[in-house]
Amino acid sequence: MSGHTRLVLDAQALAHNYRVLRSKTAPQTALLGVVKAMAYGSDSLFVARTLAQLGIDYLAVAYVPEGIALREAGIHTPILVLHPQLDQLDELWNYCLEPSVYSFRVLQALSARKEQLPIHIKLNTGLNRLGFDREDLAQLGQYLNQSPHLKRTGILSHLAASEDPEQDQYTRGQLAEFTAMSDELAQLTGGFTYKHLCNTSGILRFPEAHFDLVRSGIGLYGYPNDVALEQEFIPFASLYTVISQIHHLKPGNGIGYNRAEVAKQPMKIATLPIGHADGISRIYGLGKGGVWINDQWAPIVGNVCMDMIMVNVTDIECAEGDEVVVFDQKHRADQLAEGAGTISYELLTALSRRIKRSYVPLEDPN
Ligand SMILES: *Cc1c(COP(=O)(O)O)cnc(C)c1O
Repeated sequence: MSGHTRLVLDAQALAHNYRVLRSKTAPQTALLGVVKAMAYGSDSLFVARTLAQLGIDYLAVAYVPEGIALREAGIHTPILVLHPQLDQLDELWNYCLEPSVYSFRVLQALSARKEQLPIHIKLNTGLNRLGFDREDLAQLGQYLNQSPHLKRTGILSHLAASEDPEQDQYTRGQLAEFTAMSDELAQLTGGFTYKHLCNTSGILRFPEAHFDLVRSGIGLYGYPNDVALEQEFIPFASLYTVISQIHHLKPGNGIGYNRAEVAKQPMKIATLPIGHADGISRIYGLGKGGVWINDQWAPIVGNVCMDMIMVNVTDIECAEGDEVVVFDQKHRADQLAEGAGTISYELLTALSRRIKRSYVPLEDPN
């Protein structure tokens, strides 16, 4: 029978998604797996080890400590750090991490230590979050030429709306800007080994923009951000919980804190051991989210509590101790997220450390 709340991570699903993404890119295009934020709320070590075993070319994290944790666990794959902070730069050398260099402040700090370091130059082409602008390129070229210890390993930018067909013109503008800016900088400084622009939706929707390397996060975890493609991918993480207790309510009985919902007729509700401290935030309350019990939808009733939710099981045959699916490979996390007005990325990365992770290993090739 089922245990308590747990997140099951399926390395075979990850391997499947890895192969699907490889099949969408040319053989010479390198693939980078994004494992920031606990590998999208799962387990970055498990994911990094599995991807390394599968032959991934690169990994990326957001912050330096995430990269250190991977190195300390024995991951040898090249690691790109997307958003290094100024007080952590020495660790890039100590742990063999490759920074995305997005500002003159970072560049100046890096040029002070005269030891070889592979770097990736980040260009702002329209997301307006991180990166050098067109006007910066002449000065940037000078700096790079004066800092030969900073190896020009990569040049990258990031798309703002690659999943949204209504924004395709904007995306094509970003692609053109990236091409022009990277050409200009290459003329000033010599070329870069890896030119890279695409995230998952970029990979799937803009094959002409793959360049030397592509970066996938959400696709590896099984969510291509596209209903037409979702059958090709398998969700990596499945979240299960259990029925702790069942209550039978009379009309007028309130449910949970602040009596946010009140039974209008006789009702049967189930209490589950998962709450906002586990990452199921209050936005899923009041019926915006729900769970699956014996394959039937049971909406959350009342407010989400810190450690529990209550769900409506009036019409569902079930008992205390029964297994509950929050999301799995069939009942998708992106749909649960969408029902509450958010996205798979936010639901997944919110899943807290309190939830026990369990693992389905890669199939033994022998
Ligand atoms: C998070 C991130 C990605 C991965 O995006 P997905 O949509 O999850 O594939 C790629 N590149 C950068 C710069 C990122 O910050």
